[in-house]
Amino acid sequence: MTATLIDGKAVALRLRATVASRVAALPFQPGLAVVLVGDDPASAVYVRNKDRAAAKAGIAARTLHLPADTSEATLLATVAALNADPSVDGILVQLPLPPQIRAQSVIAAIDPAKDVDGFHPVNVGHLHDGRPTLVPCTPLGVMHLLAEAGVSLRGTRALVLGRSAIVGKPMAALLTNADVTVTVAHSRTRDLAAECRRAEVLIAAVGRPEMVRGDWVADGAVVIDVGINRLADGRLVGDCATAECAAHAAAITPVPGGVGPMTIACLLDNTVRAAVARRGQPAG
Ligand code: NAP
Repeated sequence: MTATLIDGKAVALRLRATVASRVAALPFQPGLAVVLVGDDPASAVYVRNKDRAAAKAGIAARTLHLPADTSEATLLATVAALNADPSVDGILVQLPLPPQIRAQSVIAAIDPAKDVDGFHPVNVGHLHDGRPTLVPCTPLGVMHLLAEAGVSLRGTRALVLGRSAIVGKPMAALLTNADVTVTVAHSRTRDLAAECRRAEVLIAAVGRPEMVRGDWVADGAVVIDVGINRLADGRLVGDCATAECAAHAAAITPVPGGVGPMTIACLLDNTVRAAVARRGQPAG
């Protein structure tokens, strides 16, 4: 079997075009505030990309760049000001934060209605309750990709490899809500390869370059590779050995060009949803 490649770039471009046309039809301009603390180069690139993508979609994006020695109290005051600002519909605090700031305190301080990352405990609770509001962008992007690839999820068996709050856990909740039978695997899972081989849908979010080998993949499975790992030679690879896995899978996402582009597209989508929900326009 040779897998179909799921083209995340194309799906993300379509979603971004849909978001842009929704924004153009709104009687107001949605606003997104991104807070960056410190000088982590990777975070700076992510924030710049988010800013550009938002502007292209017609969203008023602004970045607040705070120094690396910012105190937790100062960041909390910044978040409070953004919560109170009626022109701001979405607030995103770029992670990771410097060690003097507790990420959980900052996330909990964001108005849940403006929490476009979907990390606030209230939004996490709604997701796990089966009544999702604002959902974390990367797993939401995976659900879009599965839908666009025509994968019929109901009743299937999925394995989510990784249990982070950003990817693995919300991914498992979204799949459960979609009537999938979900197993979550992690670093303490015994016989990981056998667990993976049982899956009809295999989602890898582990942060280990090419850990998932071809013989871990059941024939005909759908493989979604969330991993983004940079090798010493500069190459970007996923958590799956793509060519090997593609020999067994029915469909697979490439890295780069798979899940990655969906994350920003879903952030824009979340921003418009938050804006419409707050300002009382139909969600469309
Ligand atoms: P994370 O917070 O480091 O979580 C990794 C998860 O993998 C943990 O649950 C960990 O288990 C598990 N794990 C680690 N080593 C393992 C092993 N040898 N065997 C089995 N499980 C193992 O990472 P993350 O934030 O979820 O990100 C995962 C990957 O997705 C990374 O490559 C990241 O760059 C990528 N990512 C991509 C996007 C995107 O936009 N496409 C967004 C976010 C993340 P324990 O819980 O037991 O420690």
